[in-house]
Amino acid sequence: MRIGIDDTDSPRTMCTTYLGAVLARRLNESGIRVNRAYLVRLNPNVTFKTRGNAAIALDAEGDPKISFRLACRCIEELADFGAENTHPGIVVTEEKIPTAFFQRAVQDYCTREEATDLLDDAGALYRGYKNGRGLIGATAATAAEFVDTTYEWLSYRSMDRWGSERYVDAASLRASELATSPHTWDTVDFQNRVVVCVPHTPDPVLFGIRGSNPFWVAKARGFVRSEFPVCEQIYQTNQGTDSHLMKGTIGALIEGRSYDLFGTVAARPETLVGGHVRVTIVEEYGTVSCMAFEPTKGFRDIVRSLLPGDRVRVTGSYKRGSINLEKLCIEALVEDTTLHPPLCPECVRRMTSAGRAKGYKCRHCGSRASSPMTTVAPRTVQIGWYEVPSCARRHLAMPLIRAGLRIPDGGPGEPL
Ligand code: ATP
Repeated sequence: MRIGIDDTDSPRTMCTTYLGAVLARRLNESGIRVNRAYLVRLNPNVTFKTRGNAAIALDAEGDPKISFRLACRCIEELADFGAENTHPGIVVTEEKIPTAFFQRAVQDYCTREEATDLLDDAGALYRGYKNGRGLIGATAATAAEFVDTTYEWLSYRSMDRWGSERYVDAASLRASELATSPHTWDTVDFQNRVVVCVPHTPDPVLFGIRGSNPFWVAKARGFVRSEFPVCEQIYQTNQGTDSHLMKGTIGALIEGRSYDLFGTVAARPETLVGGHVRVTIVEEYGTVSCMAFEPTKGFRDIVRSLLPGDRVRVTGSYKRGSINLEKLCIEALVEDTTLHPPLCPECVRRMTSAGRAKGYKCRHCGSRASSPMTTVAPRTVQIGWYEVPSCARRHLAMPLIRAGLRIPDGGPGEPL
């Protein structure tokens, strides 16, 4: 059977992954064997999410009714019911919910009624608390099937420490990533000298290590020195797989979906108030602006260095009429040419315009020339893939290091 849970936390406390880890232990203690735990990331553009739009599914063997009772008790004990936007959902199903529902929940929007119709068809046990919105994520989690998959090792704090400053040794995290990269990623951001895997929110997570398989995340975890974790859980997940992206065409983009699309730079990029950078790209059927926000740090320099005519491929979510850039592939670069009035061949002084369509004239000796002089400056970027730094990466975005793609100038920077 699959057990799905979602929407148990609030910005002030709890995390559905922690609740999943606690439930897995309680099920095992009651003789219900948990074979696998899944951390399922859903559409990152859903506005009522608390943080990363995660839901949890457990693959288990045993009595569904006992499992349902245990799961309800766990939610009633741990979920933050007092928070306005917390609407927990729990599903236990022996029959598989169609995977299409999971795929739609990752790339698009679903309704609670669509979820409960599928649950009724499958004869599932389910319960939605408060407005029951959590049933959408809980149902999608039970329907999850990953075409591509990664893993996350999560370590949790004891409840008396929630909200206090975390102790996780930064040097040990750096050693962990250096020893296990490229099989793990996003433990630290070397370029920006930031620890990425330790949250700053008042929830139960102590740290989370992402990697390609259980062996590598466990190996990486072995390096970490920290306060004592009260429990630890390895989740199989769709994080870092780009599964939120759909092939898109400029002119036919829909708000709240995430895309992978091609275009040609239409105009020089602009830096806006707050340091955000905007570049507009064009295709046969329209234009779209692409944003590199301030938290994407050095990635903005890559975007700023684009010129009209460069061919690019971009990935990111389409929100409020713009693509919020996650990755950028420069496919072709135009020459950076500038036209100047030519030098006079007689007196080697700069000529000036002789008037509209009349060429150039030397003001000293009267010589004439018809064409301007062209200078070509070297381009400051190269063809290839670029990505936002790990400190600004979204959960579902595939890191280039995982995709095996070259990262121009992307080696580890200075130590933290
Ligand atoms: P948590 O740690 O609890 O998982 P979160 O950031 O994942 O926090 P939630 O608190 O779960 O966010 O809120 C997301 C809500 O959005 C849930 O109620 C979930 O059922 C719902 N939801 C998720 N994906 C979709 C979707 N594609 N369409 C509509 N609703 C969705």
